[in-house]
Amino acid sequence: MSGIQKGGMGEGVQVVKLGEREGAARYELDEGALRRVLLREDVRGLPVVVVSVAGAYRGGKSFILDFFLRYLNAPRCDQQTGAWLGNEDEPLQGFHWRGGSERNTTGIHLWSEPIITTLETTGEKVAVLLMDTQGTFDTETTIGQNSTIFALSTLISSVQIYNLTGNIKEDDLQHLQLFTEYGRLACNSTSKAFQTLLFLVRDWPHAFEHPYGFLGGSSLLNKRLQAKVNQKAELRQVREHIRSCFDDIKCFLMPHPGHSVEDFKFTGCLRDLREHFRLALIELVPSLFDPKYLTPKLISGERVTTQDLFDYFKTYVGIFNSDEVPEAVTIFKATADACLLAATREARELYSQLMEARVRDNFSVSNATLTAWHEQARDQALRRFVGKKKLASQADVDTHLEALKKELGARLSQYLWNNDIKVRETMTSATEAYEAAVSR
Ligand code: GDP
Ligand code: MG
Repeated sequence: MSGIQKGGMGEGVQVVKLGEREGAARYELDEGALRRVLLREDVRGLPVVVVSVAGAYRGGKSFILDFFLRYLNAPRCDQQTGAWLGNEDEPLQGFHWRGGSERNTTGIHLWSEPIITTLETTGEKVAVLLMDTQGTFDTETTIGQNSTIFALSTLISSVQIYNLTGNIKEDDLQHLQLFTEYGRLACNSTSKAFQTLLFLVRDWPHAFEHPYGFLGGSSLLNKRLQAKVNQKAELRQVREHIRSCFDDIKCFLMPHPGHSVEDFKFTGCLRDLREHFRLALIELVPSLFDPKYLTPKLISGERVTTQDLFDYFKTYVGIFNSDEVPEAVTIFKATADACLLAATREARELYSQLMEARVRDNFSVSNATLTAWHEQARDQALRRFVGKKKLASQADVDTHLEALKKELGARLSQYLWNNDIKVRETMTSATEAYEAAVSR
């Protein structure tokens, strides 16, 4: 299995990856790897706490997860005094965080060593699992595919940390809506399907407006998630949807760690991190992992054990691979429309490229040849449109397809018209040349 990342006392293990079969996304569960993490003797039957960090590549997810590991592996007294942060000159280890060396694999990674902790409230033992969920949102295809990966990790985790850079932007909320809706369908629930969501905003630039930490996070969140009276329906709907999915939603504003992170020699030592960043870690990490605050994973109100979690992984991956889920996407009309427009644009550009290349290389041709070129280019463009993964309903796809056919048909008339002009010009200049030669 690829995607193993070594470090200190454990390693990141990829348990779900994104594959493809017959052009459609498929989610592959590495059952062997999952069994090695969840069904070990020492954690068998324990309730789980699953903290996932989800977001795009190079957002500092692995970096922060390694501080989670530091806290979890520190003695209780160090957790209480803040000494868990470590020594000034201790390189940060665990999940690989330095850019460049690691392959960017979309999927879910688990830390190989569950950490056994005792809940302060009940004295019960739990297994804490750390999960790294990553993907990209750069094309409409990846949005659809990655939503499923994020949906899966949101279903599986007790705390989903949505790692964002700079701010909570409108498209971050739309993506969140998309993957929570997928998730809700997979678990067949219309009520609050998920537990805690934490927006973790990295490199927060406006500390004067909303201060770092939970305080500023809470005021930013209120502002961003507020459903306003005169807000557009779709903006309001996104907000209401997100609020309705989670038991608890929080936000934490993280300062920039300092410019040493850009230095290729940076090894994650504390001495290279800004004071603000360290203070933020001291506020954030215990709020998630202090035995007083740990959140065991619940499904339908029941504690989930390591064995249950293993079974849930299998069930959910199975559902996402079946035909049951894609229906969900029609709910996201806005996203679906954007995908359709992008597919139309791509088809249109392909048609133009193919036609322009031929017209450029041939000065003027017969109408029959031009029509044959058009038909070839049109068919390729339509195939491109049809082949693109789209989120929309079949009826919407058909409407857009008809419009595209009409549009490309009109382009042929334009090409024929231009071709006629070229032919006439050629004939006129040939006639003029002939007359000039005769009169000489
Ligand atoms: P991931 O792909 O999301 O797991 O990102 P990594 O944890 O591998 O970090 C990617 C790069 O960002 C590394 O070079 C880190 O040094 C750097 N980095 C880590 N945390 C932060 C942060 O809070 N802000 C900035 N600007 N860079 C960070
Ligand atoms: Mg990473």
